[in-house]
Amino acid sequence: MFMKCNICPRNCNVDRKNAKGFCNSGDKIIISKVMLHYFEEPILTGGEDKPSGAIFFAGCNLKCVYCQNFDISHNAVGKEVSKEELIQIIKKLEHLGAENIDLITPTHFTSQIVDALKSYKPKVPVIWNTGGYEDAETIKQLDGLVDIFLTDFKYADDALAISYSKAPNYVKNAKNALTEMKKQQNSNIFEKNKLIKGIVVRHLVLPSHAKDSIKVLDIVKDICGSDTIVSIMAQYTPMAPNLPSELNRKITPLEYKTVVNHALKVGLNNALTQELSSASSCYTPNFKEKIIEI
Ligand code: SF4
Repeated sequence: MFMKCNICPRNCNVDRKNAKGFCNSGDKIIISKVMLHYFEEPILTGGEDKPSGAIFFAGCNLKCVYCQNFDISHNAVGKEVSKEELIQIIKKLEHLGAENIDLITPTHFTSQIVDALKSYKPKVPVIWNTGGYEDAETIKQLDGLVDIFLTDFKYADDALAISYSKAPNYVKNAKNALTEMKKQQNSNIFEKNKLIKGIVVRHLVLPSHAKDSIKVLDIVKDICGSDTIVSIMAQYTPMAPNLPSELNRKITPLEYKTVVNHALKVGLNNALTQELSSASSCYTPNFKEKIIEI
């Protein structure tokens, strides 16, 4: 499928038939969890009681120190599936009433997923749920196949991206990728309160870094405009081992309020917010249990 992998800004240039790059993934699709997932933003499903059809891919091109899905992202634990099996999983999720197909951390399997979606395009929206460290040229391959970009914009400062995610040039790459996403999905389209096409930019507020969050919001507004849907997440939970001391706590009400107030001040009126009580490990799927839950 690819001779040397340069799918993402890591540019590992490895032959994934015989080796693994930073994402710890070979050329076969590995899935860590398939489930009906009730905890994504309700606009993605049309209501809190309706599920996304979540497919969590194993491995990740970021591996943030604070990752709440540590086992699957860092250790790439999961089950190998073929293209045909992936298509059957998507069809089964649709059959079970999933309101969308939520491809979670898909970047390092872009080629294989594009191949599957060209063979079978689901009837419900396809969501590209990414950490934002994307190559804009790779995002171009998704044109016509992905309906909603659910993308993180994690940092406005490359020093933080390097320190917490070992991701050089995160800011430039995330900006370029978001610009390409905006080209493909220029406006948000809803059907019965459910987003069926568009962009949702997620930003997880980290403890001790509200100032960086504010800069992130400014960047997102510059690229996508003030009507962008920005999901300002309060759910940071210190679950990963060996966290730096400044990340070893939940965010405070004041930190969250500072960021949300800035969104309102600059006119990001479609900002989605969370209760601080969402900062709990109970919202994280258990990746040690059954992989295919459907
Ligand atoms: S997808 Fe994986 S192997 Fe390919 S460039 Fe990115 S981190 Fe490296």
